[in-house]
Amino acid sequence: MTATLDPTPTATASADAPVDTFDSLDPANGDLVGTHPVTSKADVDAAVARAREAAGWWGALSFDERAEHLLTWRSVITRRIAQLANLSHRETGKPHGDAQLEIILAIDHVAWAAKNAKKVLGPSKVRSGLLMANQASTVEYKPLGVVGVIGPWNYPVFTPMGSIAYALAAGNTVVFKPSEYTPGVGQWLADTFTEVVHGRPVLQVVTGLGETGNALCTADVDKLAFTGSGPTGKKVMAACAENLTPVIIEAGGKDSLIVDEDADLAKAAEAALWGGMSNAGQTCIGTERVYVHEKVFDSFMTEILGQAKGLRAGADAGAKIGPITMPSQLKVIQSHIDDAIAKGAHVALGGSDAVGERFVQPTILTHVPEDSTEITEETFGPTLAINPVRSMDEAVELTNATSYGLAGAVFSKKQGMEIARRIRSGMTSVNSVIAFAGVPTLPFGGVGQSGFGRIHGPDGLKEFTYAKAITRQKFKPVMMLTSFERGAKEDGRVAQLITLLHGGKQTLK
Ligand code: NAD
Repeated sequence: MTATLDPTPTATASADAPVDTFDSLDPANGDLVGTHPVTSKADVDAAVARAREAAGWWGALSFDERAEHLLTWRSVITRRIAQLANLSHRETGKPHGDAQLEIILAIDHVAWAAKNAKKVLGPSKVRSGLLMANQASTVEYKPLGVVGVIGPWNYPVFTPMGSIAYALAAGNTVVFKPSEYTPGVGQWLADTFTEVVHGRPVLQVVTGLGETGNALCTADVDKLAFTGSGPTGKKVMAACAENLTPVIIEAGGKDSLIVDEDADLAKAAEAALWGGMSNAGQTCIGTERVYVHEKVFDSFMTEILGQAKGLRAGADAGAKIGPITMPSQLKVIQSHIDDAIAKGAHVALGGSDAVGERFVQPTILTHVPEDSTEITEETFGPTLAINPVRSMDEAVELTNATSYGLAGAVFSKKQGMEIARRIRSGMTSVNSVIAFAGVPTLPFGGVGQSGFGRIHGPDGLKEFTYAKAITRQKFKPVMMLTSFERGAKEDGRVAQLITLLHGGKQTLK
């Protein structure tokens, strides 16, 4: 095992005082990619104070002015996509093409958030109702101020961008703590945005490990958007509770892909393989479990094993699967595979020997006992647990028998939508996998141990605002209800009116 590759702080001499730093390493070979400061509590507080000042300027811009800046940033990222993809490839180990795909999706989200913030968050008139017919009512969504964002390493651009772009478009400034495995990518994003706004600290990065993340949770931020593992999410919530800081938690998952008897098996196998193995299985919304109707189980297995031929992990250009980014995860992947096999799972591909020093070869297990960790816990490696089911009812029941509830997929010609609706998760793709993540109008987030709150789409914009309700009196009311002048006559009239409006035909039976 190469546990030494996990970031650890070291004291480095600087011009005036020793500064703690940490290294970001290439997980494919251990090469140094960059050295970054471990931002102290005092420096996090200072960044938040700068962000608060900048929020005065950024928040006062019109939606159109903010959109102009965000769309410029979108273009800068697009034109420099190869540079960013290369950095992400080096810090995460993912193939260059996969790094680029992730950035492409993120760019689309920046554009959507920029173009739609005005329509979603700007003032809109709402009906006042008969009782308050003399009032003109409006609702609008105001920025919170400063938003803290804490991100993971697995999708170091796409994932935090779901919070950053939407928070910025809503008029907030942002302080971002990227994962200690991908600090360079985080810094690149902040540096390019700072170029766009001519040096103003609208989007800042504080690099560091867990302690820096904790410092951001307890700093003077108005909301904290966290994406990462459930156990860290609980610590984040506890720290945020100190100041009653609201949080969004985007945590892990154990998503399943369901294959019905009438499904297109070739397409379902292609999706399961990609959903489970791409990004070396390190995808929160990746496929970890597959439930296949028993009538088509054997055909599905023939199909997926055929498609998996030649698929392998490695550092060369021909390998479609990169290394495990976080070396400590290798132990977890090994233990899940071993636990499943010890409990009676069949090895269809890979197996216990698939876990190497830095890479894990694709592993497919079948007939995996439902109480093994390969089924109950997030594996975050290129493994699939594929089990036959007697019916779609059983597939839904097993899918929902988890404390997680992030996403999932269904392959079925006739019942896709119906099955999708029965899955207790935030997002489901029918006859494809992970498609919802690329649709900017759709909310993204989970239920249960997968967290709460939503990024993306109108819900994602509103997540970084507070609703402001205003009523404006248009004319004197016929009956003045909110006055000590109100007497028995008015009370009688208003009682008559409410009976007329809501007495209704519906009575107790
Ligand atoms: P992690 O929980 O180890 O770390 C996430 C971030 O939290 C890092 O930046 C880390 O430095 C920071 N952190 C650590 N301790 C902290 C503390 N005490 N206070 C504040 N911040 C702290 O997660 P990870 O390994 O980086 O990411 C993988 C996890 O993220 C997986 O579980 C995956 O499913 C999940 N994930 C979820 C989504 C989603 O949208 N639901 C997206 C991507 C990843």
